[in-house]
Amino acid sequence: MPTKPPTFRNKAQLERIADRKRQARPETNKIYDGAWRRLRRHHLAANPLCVECFKLDKIVEATVVDHIQPVAIAPDRRLDPTNFRSCCQSCRSIMSQNWKANGINEVPNRRS
Ligand SMILES: [Zn+2]
Repeated sequence: MPTKPPTFRNKAQLERIADRKRQARPETNKIYDGAWRRLRRHHLAANPLCVECFKLDKIVEATVVDHIQPVAIAPDRRLDPTNFRSCCQSCRSIMSQNWKANGINEVPNRRS
């Protein structure tokens, strides 16, 4: 069965696409501005593993920097590195669901 060939984009094309996405979400841009993106990149470099997976003795690369206290309830801690934690997309999704359902921004205990 024929498959679509992969699309290759250079760095300038990827940046234009990211700029268009940012312009489409002005509310999100106030939270995830240039200062945030720079801090996020440094945090991931210094903390490359998912902290939630690590608690379960799993080594998983972190791709997301999460606010321990969500920006919605602690906007003053948006750029506070002590409020950051590295996590993988899977753990971030679980935490996000738990936050929306129960107001707890943590992964429910998965050991039990
Ligand atoms: Zn994880």
